Amino acid sequence: MKRYDILVVGAGPAGLAAAQAAAASGRKVGIIDDNPQAGGQIWRGGPASQSDARARALWLSLQDAPNVEFLSQTRVLYAPAAQQLQVQTASSAITVHYERLILATGARERLLPFPGWTLPGVTGAGGLQALSKGGYPVAGKRVVVAGTGPLLLAVAATLRARGAQIIAIVEQAPLPALARFGAGLLATPSKAAQALQLARHLRGIPYWSDSYVRAALDTSGVAAAAPQLRAVRIQKGSSTITLECDYLACGYGLLPNVELAQALGAATHSRKGQTAVTIDSWQQTRISNVYCAGEGTGVGGVDLALVEGRIAGLAASGAVAETATLFHQRTRWRKFASRLEHTFALRPEILALAEDNTIVCRCEDVCHGELKTHSSWRSAKLHTRCGMGPCQGRICGGATELLYGWRPAAVRSPIVPARVASMIESAPD
Ligand SMILES: Cc1cc2nc3c(=O)[nH]c(=O)nc-3n(C[C@H](O)[C@H](O)[C@H](O)COP(=O)(O)OP(=O)(O)OC[C@H]3O[C@@H](n4cnc5c(N)ncnc54)[C@H](O)[C@@H]3O)c2cc1C
Repeated sequence: MKRYDILVVGAGPAGLAAAQAAAASGRKVGIIDDNPQAGGQIWRGGPASQSDARARALWLSLQDAPNVEFLSQTRVLYAPAAQQLQVQTASSAITVHYERLILATGARERLLPFPGWTLPGVTGAGGLQALSKGGYPVAGKRVVVAGTGPLLLAVAATLRARGAQIIAIVEQAPLPALARFGAGLLATPSKAAQALQLARHLRGIPYWSDSYVRAALDTSGVAAAAPQLRAVRIQKGSSTITLECDYLACGYGLLPNVELAQALGAATHSRKGQTAVTIDSWQQTRISNVYCAGEGTGVGGVDLALVEGRIAGLAASGAVAETATLFHQRTRWRKFASRLEHTFALRPEILALAEDNTIVCRCEDVCHGELKTHSSWRSAKLHTRCGMGPCQGRICGGATELLYGWRPAAVRSPIVPARVASMIESAPD
């Protein structure tokens, strides 16, 4: 059993900023993250090794703070009682008590079904980036990066730096919207500088706007070959183009991780297929001692995550007056977030790509043809097992919300797959 005055779940930019702000009060702060190293998605591999000076500075100050403890490879499973979280470590399970809780659980990729999307060789865009950052070899591999949003550029840059040959970046947003977004970057010089840097890293790679993947094609026509991605068929304006490749890294933006907040009873709201935690000006949820910061409150990028984390950390540690100076920054990055949402809004054709035999729920192998006859998530679950596999709807739930307009049912604990022993150890006698 462990006890903290302030407990932060998630050690990405939002969680680290929250922990640093909270630690300044002298209170005992705990940070939990399920990865071996802190840093979250953008600073994967550890904040100490990043080129972003903010990552290094945050980590340095947290490492030096005697009142901060980092629990890595520790995953929150559920809340057994008020002010308690049951967590699973690499080898055991413990109950963590807190006075105040800051949720900084980030986001995951939105994957949408199209013919062939379950073939070996097809991954999420951020998924292949994460794999390569973890050492998966991509050198010499031909990769098509597709989907939508600025993440595609970051992914292509990471993969190229690790020796991959990027065949094309395929962006579904139309060129006029992208041009407006580019011009709007002048309002945020740091983002404009980042965009120019990315453009330098990506020089020579074709960037196709107004384009999307229609299908991933396999080798099943080749004798004795196991199914494997061979090529992708792309709709580029009014033409259809086939590109041969080894990997297709395809993602349609991000979805906030809201399950823990929902399990604790925090309110959420939905917009355009994205459900986010509802917070007040101090990042507080409707539960008085639970705060939320970063992508969980809506996808907005690293700068918004950092300022939200800082506000949450200050508010949770009682330094409410100090938060006021940060509101202006938050408003600025929220405006940037809404420009992102507007520019990279999904075109309807992408939601009409699945054919009757296209798998939508890949844990339980449930196809579009079976699902489209149902009127709700609950009905689909009961009759087809959609969303009842290991991911518990975290992947297919994002797709079915957009494809069929279903809101996933209430979250069930444990919120992530857990060892049976972790549940037994925590059960009351
Ligand atoms: C796959 C992926 C790749 C990305 N790559 C880039 C990039 O290259 N460049 C860029 O600018 N932006 C990238 N982003 C966006 C980036 O994540 C955000 O801009 C920003 O980092 C969000 O910070 P955060 O602290 O809110 O969340 P995150 O950085 O996502 O951190 C959340 C942390 O909480 C942990 N967590 C969640 N639930 C639990 C739980 N139950 N128990 C324990 N720990 C938990 C997660 O493992 C994670 O480490 C990426 C996003 C994703 C999903």
